[in-house]
Amino acid sequence: MTDCIFCKIINKEIPSSVVYEDEKVLAFLDITQTTKGHTLVIPKIHVQDIFELSEETAADLFSRIPKIARAIEKSDPAIKGMNILNNNREAAYQTVFHSHVHLIPRYDDQDDFS
Ligand code: 5GP
Ligand code: ZN
Repeated sequence: MTDCIFCKIINKEIPSSVVYEDEKVLAFLDITQTTKGHTLVIPKIHVQDIFELSEETAADLFSRIPKIARAIEKSDPAIKGMNILNNNREAAYQTVFHSHVHLIPRYDDQDDFS
């Protein structure tokens, strides 16, 4: 989709800090770092939200999450845990309408949740 910011990130039309990439998914740092290492994982095809996600694309997206979570966890010994979040539609606080999963590392010294 031409006016989708995440499609532009996939196509490298706008820059991002890539955490992981393969033929099906891209993981990159969220521009707003809720905590250090806050990462978004997206399918490479444009799908608005969970309600539009096919089983195949869902499998592509969610099957990568543990591997990416482990890579983030290994990158910083201060990481003590991780929240995994998926917002769907405006009523659920989705603001970018290309399906994505938030990986939010948690640290002992960052107790706020936002
Ligand atoms: P949502 O609220 O839809 O679940 O999350 C969308 C996320 O996308 C937000 O956390 C926001 O900071 C992030 N975001 C929005 N625009 C950009 C961008 O241009 N680059 C990156 N890296 N993240 C973005
Ligand atoms: Zn898109």
